[in-house]
Amino acid sequence: MTFLPIGDAANDPVSRRGFLRAGTAVAVVASAGSLTGCSVLGSSGGVQVEGLKGQIKGTVVSRDSNAYEPWRRSMIWQTQKFPRFPDVIVQAEDVDDIVATVNFARENNIKITTRAGGHSWCGTFMRNEGILLDISRLQSVEIDAEKSEAIIGPGVIARGLNELLGEEDLAFPTAHCGMVPLSGYLLGGGCGWNGREWGGAATYCINQVEFVTAQGEVIIANETENADVFWAVRGGGPGLFGVVTKFWLKCFPKPQAIHQINVLFPFNKLNEIAAGFDELAPNFGLNVEALLVVTEAPPPFANLCEEDGCDQFCILTAVAFVNSRAEAVEAFKPLTEHPLAELAAAPIEPEEVNFERLYYDNEVPFPQRRYAVDQIYTDDLTSVTEVLAKHLPNAPSRVTAPVIHYYGNPDYPDGACTTKGKFYVSCYAQWNDGSEDDLHKGWITDLYRELEPHATGSYINEFNQEKRTDATPQCYSLEAWERLKQLRAEWDKPGIFHDFYGMT
Ligand SMILES: Cc1cc2nc3c(=O)[nH]c(=O)nc-3n(C[C@H](O)[C@H](O)[C@H](O)COP(=O)(O)OP(=O)(O)OC[C@H]3O[C@@H](n4cnc5c(N)ncnc54)[C@H](O)[C@@H]3O)c2cc1C
Repeated sequence: MTFLPIGDAANDPVSRRGFLRAGTAVAVVASAGSLTGCSVLGSSGGVQVEGLKGQIKGTVVSRDSNAYEPWRRSMIWQTQKFPRFPDVIVQAEDVDDIVATVNFARENNIKITTRAGGHSWCGTFMRNEGILLDISRLQSVEIDAEKSEAIIGPGVIARGLNELLGEEDLAFPTAHCGMVPLSGYLLGGGCGWNGREWGGAATYCINQVEFVTAQGEVIIANETENADVFWAVRGGGPGLFGVVTKFWLKCFPKPQAIHQINVLFPFNKLNEIAAGFDELAPNFGLNVEALLVVTEAPPPFANLCEEDGCDQFCILTAVAFVNSRAEAVEAFKPLTEHPLAELAAAPIEPEEVNFERLYYDNEVPFPQRRYAVDQIYTDDLTSVTEVLAKHLPNAPSRVTAPVIHYYGNPDYPDGACTTKGKFYVSCYAQWNDGSEDDLHKGWITDLYRELEPHATGSYINEFNQEKRTDATPQCYSLEAWERLKQLRAEWDKPGIFHDFYGMT
């Protein structure tokens, strides 16, 4: 989850350039589609792909093609293009293409991974050998306003869905950045806007899916039909043993007057602020989303800290999903009437916002850079804050943003998404230079190793699968982890779908 009210990047000219570059990179990804026709087929790493070419409408790019590396790189959202090389990239045009690719993989004993939007922080879909199946071109959206349901393809992004739903006065708890694709987000759990009021985790707003099995069958899975698959879809994320080709999503009445407040504090008060946040956050209604973020002080607040070296600040943000300003003022009272508010460095004024503004504000701090991300859930914010306060001053980059989000231990229905906590604590290391990969990845890994004893679990979509692979089971309850393994053995007998990253 990335949820930053005013990113340092918004105020930093270098970061602004980075943000503009983000636009360029998006254009490159989009242009991958226009490479259609450049596919060079042949033998690639022992995979004979000619047979597949004749069977699908989409594009097949093998490793010996000149087009391969631009295609491979375009699959990954960030600038870190993980050095893992599938033998073949297949971009499907429709469900028939997906079925043909799965059948081809099974008949030729080839491993396969699915890529929807390519936003996985550690590129879990990018594996060595086998087929990378890109399903991003399945972008249909149908809205049944009477049933408050959206039926979407896996290539749809957050902003696109909520723009269309807004026309029907509906909304969905998408990710916090508008560019984040829904597919991987939903399958991993989905911590999104107004999530506490709308389902606890967005995956529990899936009513039904269309699913291509390892046998190449297209099935429907919901609570009564293929219920085992449905259970796995709701949280199984990057360890899924099939391809979801369509989602039926439960939508909600659109809040008519979303409001936000931002409260600024100097970083050297982190412990005090976190303690106050711990105390006040449970008093918010379910329709208020609240978080604390540590970020670089923007120019007007550069002198906020009294101590040398304190060039960062903490910002406590609350967003109320309400229908009037009066409701917002009431909803914010647990914060505005708490003694913590007296420490604020600037006046606290509720501001009306909309989904687009929320998306934009959250995208600015996430320009095209190299990223390493990690996360825990915790019920013990005091201990976690102590560890953060120790490590943050030594972060190799000042744009590395830790986020403490009030999660409130929501009740979940029965599904693979099982981990939770009072708080969601994530950190987003960002840098530009590839020679610094080890430095930044090492720092964030050390930080989260030290946080592990204070965790109640982790969230698979923002968990450091690359460097804390051994801890991946902590993203699930013990029972859920075992059941996912059993279902994989049952539904993918030929073993064609790659398992969780690092587990083949
Ligand atoms: C800038 C940014 C902001 C983010 N903000 C949030 C946030 O607010 N809240 C949050 O919860 N998360 C957030 N995330 C994390 C996000 O949820 C994941 O990156 C998610 O995987 C993105 O979905 P995707 O479709 O791009 O997945 P991909 O990267 O394409 O795939 C991720 C994994 O899921 C599997 N997969 C994806 N789709 C399918 C499918 N249809 N069938 C079978 N397997 C599939 C892939 O095989 C892969 O292993 C953010 C990420 C970024 C980069």
